[in-house]
Amino acid sequence: MKSLLFLGLILLSFTTTSSADQKWASFAKLTNSHQGQSAPGLSAVKEYLKQFGYLSTKSATFDNKFDATFHSALLTYQKFFNLKNSGVLDATTVNQMMEPRCGMPDIVTENTTANGRNLYAVGGNPWPPGSKLKYYFTSTGTTIRKRHVARIIRGAFNRWSNVANVLFKRVFIEKETDIVIGFFSGDHGDGSPFDGQFGVLAHAFYPQNGRSHFDSDEIWAPNLRFLARTTGSVDLLTIAIHEFGHNLGLRHSDVQNAIMWPSVQLQTRKATLDADDIEGIQFLYGPN
Ligand SMILES: [Zn+2]
Ligand SMILES: [Zn+2]
Repeated sequence: MKSLLFLGLILLSFTTTSSADQKWASFAKLTNSHQGQSAPGLSAVKEYLKQFGYLSTKSATFDNKFDATFHSALLTYQKFFNLKNSGVLDATTVNQMMEPRCGMPDIVTENTTANGRNLYAVGGNPWPPGSKLKYYFTSTGTTIRKRHVARIIRGAFNRWSNVANVLFKRVFIEKETDIVIGFFSGDHGDGSPFDGQFGVLAHAFYPQNGRSHFDSDEIWAPNLRFLARTTGSVDLLTIAIHEFGHNLGLRHSDVQNAIMWPSVQLQTRKATLDADDIEGIQFLYGPN
């Protein structure tokens, strides 16, 4: 009996080591890699930069060589995140990569660069200004009670409708809904599997493909009290405002205070739209 319990504990500790944890450990080992080197594990960083739009599928071969293409992608990444443009995989850059973030890419086309942008960006085919968008959600896959999820989602949509000419209405039938919101773990059928706790927290689709997905493997906080006292928790309101921004047609902004900045701190609420977010949403829908 005792040994069974022991085995259970080992299995439990094994399954709580997520693929994201393993990835970050290998990233950390690459700190201070520079151009011209061959660094074991660098292909995973290339995959990471490709995932977020910094390396195109065609040009990257994903070997472990720190080549000119990777160097250039790294410089663009550092520029986007307002880091020192060292072109080296320095500690600050590796730490930024390890920070939890949204799964949507930062750089969208091969010809776009983040150089000197410091501005919101838009994508997709926005809903007509003045739309009253119907949304539907399920709380399956989260420990937060459905009525609290409802309150948080309403609050997140309100941030946008307070400043722009767009409205939201909750509906209770998924069919013919504009935006469908849910919590999913791992591979959930849209080609962008979640990665366990940390790493990618959520992703959403640009209009008019209205889907917002939250990673079930995160510890989602329903309120500030839970957020403050629960190690590793993520504020659902903060992330929901961000993902709904994508559903409305905003891409990632390289303005650090913007809601549409790609990464977030754990146990931190960032729920106030920045001037950059407001300019972006009003560009799409006009002021409220
Ligand atoms: Zn995002
Ligand atoms: Zn998804």
